Amino acid sequence: MATEAKTPDTAAEGEDTDRSQLAVEEEKLEAAAKGERKPRQGAEMSNLDIVRFYFDRAVERLELADDIRAVFWTPYREVTVQIPVRLSDGITHVFSGYRIQHNGARGPYKGGIRFHPEVDIDEVRALASLMTWKTAIANVPFGGAKGGVNCPADQLDRTEVQQITRSFMDKIEKILGPTRDIPAPDVNTDAQVMAWMMDEYGKLHGHTPAICTGKPIALEGSYGREAATGRGCVYMYREAAPHLGLTPADTTFVVQGYGNVGSWAARIMQQLGCKMVGASDANGAIRNDAGIDANALEEYIQQDGVMTAYDEADAIDPEELLEIPSDVFIPAALGGMIHQGNADRMQCRVIVEGANSPTTPGADEILSEKGVYIIPDVMANAGGVVCSYFEWVQNLQHFRWDEREVNDKLGTVMRRAYREVSARAKQENLPLREAAYLVGIERVVEAARTRGYV
Ligand code: NAD
Repeated sequence: MATEAKTPDTAAEGEDTDRSQLAVEEEKLEAAAKGERKPRQGAEMSNLDIVRFYFDRAVERLELADDIRAVFWTPYREVTVQIPVRLSDGITHVFSGYRIQHNGARGPYKGGIRFHPEVDIDEVRALASLMTWKTAIANVPFGGAKGGVNCPADQLDRTEVQQITRSFMDKIEKILGPTRDIPAPDVNTDAQVMAWMMDEYGKLHGHTPAICTGKPIALEGSYGREAATGRGCVYMYREAAPHLGLTPADTTFVVQGYGNVGSWAARIMQQLGCKMVGASDANGAIRNDAGIDANALEEYIQQDGVMTAYDEADAIDPEELLEIPSDVFIPAALGGMIHQGNADRMQCRVIVEGANSPTTPGADEILSEKGVYIIPDVMANAGGVVCSYFEWVQNLQHFRWDEREVNDKLGTVMRRAYREVSARAKQENLPLREAAYLVGIERVVEAARTRGYV
């Protein structure tokens, strides 16, 4: 483990480490046996229930038959593996790894790999089905998948993360492949983790850069991929802004979750002339109504600074972040963080969902009554998978595009997705989220029918 401080159950209490981990697993198994799904972050429903709620609503509106609904209700394939790893505390920790392929009617399965203690099979199911709708809404030729390992990656050192990554790849490689299923980064996984995944896969199959995306530039990654999800969120803001009477020079914004997606969204919003007035990460939250420099904050955190100690802003309670008056709020952390219990405290005009499932249906209702315009996850954070598609194409062609070309193409795809979904929303008088699900589900059903799957 990286540090004693970050690891409550370290070597001296070795047995406790395993016991407490076992206890957590037992609790989850018990809940699963009872058919319960555990909501996160104070949300009133789980991420899987959130995704299924919107799916069912769309199915009803599209008047899809029950047998068709049944095909998309559950994933096509689910793989659970055991990852026993001896960590630097001298103890063998047993983690669970998942790769879930939801639907592949439109192309190879595609979706990120998350390393987080809260990862469980239901969360991965939720994220995999979101990917099916997201790739369809963005109109890139992929299906939907997701993976994860329930390890505390932010408390492990890089050697330990590498061990877990390689062991996970060894166990799931049979269902992966450049024309089958292509992983990418997600929470607590990055370009380095993708490099280890590619290397491990290559030991068995030979050099295969198209096996995963989000790789380092030195290993056939794509220019622009690291920033792509955040950049995609900003393209969405730019499309919506004129209709909402917003100009960048007068736009203030708040970022919840200053990681890959959040910090890139912030830096690119700032390039446009917008001003960040609040931010948070897993350690806490900060605020400065006069503005927080997004680049300086990122640099400070990269140099091992703790966000709440950043002296150009005031540390605040994370719940207070929601109450900061702003034009745009960008949730970019975990699912279920805006829920029935806190949605009415929000003081923004627009939410651009960088995270997956950050808003529960109950919160959606409260926010829509308050007149908040929500650009939903299935379109707002599609920039990552769109750029992953570009990386995959470059890998298959063994030909690299420059960054400008990647960003221009990303803009074209994101603008098209926004325009198609907002046209549908106007036509049917629906919120963007419901219109997006209609567009995505229709495309997947059409592909499945044409293939003869359904
Ligand atoms: P990341 O690990 O780089 O960043 C996550 C950030 O959230 C970190 O700063 C972490 O400290 C913070 N965080 C964790 N718990 C928090 C809490 N309780 N309160 C506030 N902040 C908290 O992950 P990421 O890749 O930026 O992913 C963030 C979200 O965006 C996830 O929901 C992910 O599924 C989604 N997403 C990511 C991509 C991508 O390309 N990386 C693509 C689409 C969607």
